[in-house]
Parts: sequence; C-alpha cells; structure tokens
Amino acid sequence: MEVLAKMKIIGYGIRQDERQFVEQWSSQNGIGVKMTAELLTAETVDQASGYDGIVAFQQLAYSDELLEKMDQLGIHNLSLRNVGVDNINLEKATSLGIKVTNVPVYSPEAIAEFTVTQLMQLLRRSKEYARKFSNHDFRWAPQISKELNQQTVGVIGTGHIGRSAIKIFQGFGAKVIAYDAFHNKEIESQGLYVDSLSDIYKQATVITLHIPLFPETEHMLDREAFNQMNDGVFIINAARGPLIDESALIEALDSGKVGGAALDVMEDETKVFNQDLGKQEINYPAFNNLFERDNVLISPHTAFYTDVAVKNMVNISLNNNKQLFETGTADNLVEK
Ligand code: NAD
Repeated sequence: MEVLAKMKIIGYGIRQDERQFVEQWSSQNGIGVKMTAELLTAETVDQASGYDGIVAFQQLAYSDELLEKMDQLGIHNLSLRNVGVDNINLEKATSLGIKVTNVPVYSPEAIAEFTVTQLMQLLRRSKEYARKFSNHDFRWAPQISKELNQQTVGVIGTGHIGRSAIKIFQGFGAKVIAYDAFHNKEIESQGLYVDSLSDIYKQATVITLHIPLFPETEHMLDREAFNQMNDGVFIINAARGPLIDESALIEALDSGKVGGAALDVMEDETKVFNQDLGKQEINYPAFNNLFERDNVLISPHTAFYTDVAVKNMVNISLNNNKQLFETGTADNLVEK
C-alpha cells in the first residue's frame, strides 16, 4: 500500500469529457493523476518529470525523440487509452525498456453502430438531402435511395468490431459475407466466410473494413481491388486510413465504380482531424477532393466517441498503468 500511495500518473491529451472519469478513478484508487490537455510530444514530455507513468491518447505519432526523452526522464510505463499502436515505434520503445499498453476492447459496439449509421446515410443520400434542404428545396426527387436489406455486405475483419457490425447488418436483413485471415468460430458456424478478398470484392455491394493497419494491409483497397468490385459499391472505412489508397478511391468515385464512401479515418488525417481549422486553407488535396463530394461522408475519427467507450478507455488505461507500476507487466501489454 505504501508503494501505491507514492505512485503518480500524468495523463496527456485529457479532454473535458474524460476529466470526471479520471477523477473518479483517482479517488477510488488513491493514486494522483495530473491531467493536461496537451498532446505527448518531445516538447511536452518534460511535464512528466517525477511521474511514474504516462497515460496518453492521440492520432499524432509518438516520435522516437519523445521515447528517448521518456527514457532519459526514467519513465518507462506508457499506457494508451486507445487500441491502435501504429503511431508508435514499438521496436524503439522496447529497446529503451519502455512498456506500452493499450485498450484492446472498450466498446466495439460504438464503432459498429457508427459504421452502420454511415452506411445508412450513404444509402439514404443524406448529404445530398441536407444540401437541398439548406436551400429550402424540400422535394424528394431525384434522390431515390437504396435499402440495406437488399445489400450484400462484405465485412473484412471479423474481430470485435467486425462481429458487432455483422449482428447489426443481419438485424436489418442484409446478406453478410466475411473475410478474415483467422476464422472466428461463431462466424464460421454461420457460414459467412468466403475464401478470398477477391470473393468479397466480386460479390459485395457494400464493403466495410475492420482490420488493423499492418505493412501487408496498407493500401489493401488499391486500383486492382477497386477494379474487381461491383459497379456502384459502397465503401466504409472506420478502421485505419492507409488501408485505402485515396488516389485510387478518387478514380473509382470518378468512374462510378464506387457509388459512395464513408471515411472515419484517412491517410493523412492528422493534417485535419481533431482541430478547429476555421477558414484556414487545407493543404491535403485528397481530403479536399473527397470532402466536396455528395456521395462521400468524412467524419474526423469519431466512431469510437461515445460515453461508454470514453469511460472504459480511461479506466482500463489507468488500470494498465497501475498494473505496470505494481508488477512490471500488464494484461494489455503490447508486445512487438
Ligand atoms: P480485432 O483485433 O478484434 O480484430 C481485427 C481482425 O482483423 C482480427 O479478426 C484479425 O484476424 C483480422 N486481420 C488482421 N490482419 C488481417 C489481414 N491481413 N487480413 C484479414 N484479416 C486480418 O480489432 P477490432 O477491435 O475489431 O478493431 C479493428 C480495427 O478498427 C482496429 O485495428 C482499428 O484500426 C480500428 N478502430 C477504429 C476506431 C475508430 O474510432 N474509427 C476505433 C477503434 C478501432
């Protein structure tokens, strides 16, 4: 108990909506948590001096320079409040003795529900209607819609989020087909798996991505993939931006091969997302191109952002950091 009483954590990038959960955890566990809204960078890490562990969440990269400074400050416990670890050089962290934890599952339903919401908006052409209504044009034609129960939804990745999305799609009466490098028993027993990604591309009228970003999945949806798809296919990406080659997507939208896309993540999203850019010019041509299109919905990585998910992200990451401090390891240790 004496050791615990001395433990101190610093939380970076803490938003207003997270503060109450951090405060609750801090008083329940008797561990002080200093909160800062600043992101964790080589420039801000000095604020962590004297703390035992860092809890952070950001899309911005955790640079090698930052990791080196953490090592110099003697801080070797870093707990991320999210799943993705693609913005951190894990080899570098390991070589410095920095242990990284993540929150592998906080609310798959949050992302799954958002995925389906965005698809419904594409099918019902909500963006076009919103534009019309804002000009007081209240006619329904010619924006005739499509029905989800008529779609064949190709789910790529049947992990926590993919499986949750499948249940919702099935609730709407859609036909679901799935692809995953590793089969899940429940999905297999339902006979949903096809043999290859090509089968998904050829059969699906909607394709939704729920896999992690690895070198082998980068630009999974490229020109070659789009060419195999049905004309007018709808694409949803609430996984990771670089899974899609954005220039190939733009060509596929131009040709009509892709009928609409909903992107909650983008290749260079840190240039735009999670900032109030006001009237500033946006120096990201693919973003500007896609953002203007009526059949493309861009959301700034908001799929995860629900009350349930935020509470779980805060509590689980702080528990991980405490566990690292007490035992030198944690259930959610990310290993390279
Ligand atoms: P998960 O680990 O439960 O599932 C991922 C699935 O992808 C696994 O079943 C795995 O076998 C499969 N997979 C891995 N590599 C593959 C490959 N090369 N080909 C086919 N399948 C492959 O992860 P999850 O919780 O379902 O999350 C999925 C992804 O969603 C995350 O990796 C993350 O990138 C993204 N995500 C986005 C948000 C958001 O707010 N938009 C929030 C959380 C997660």
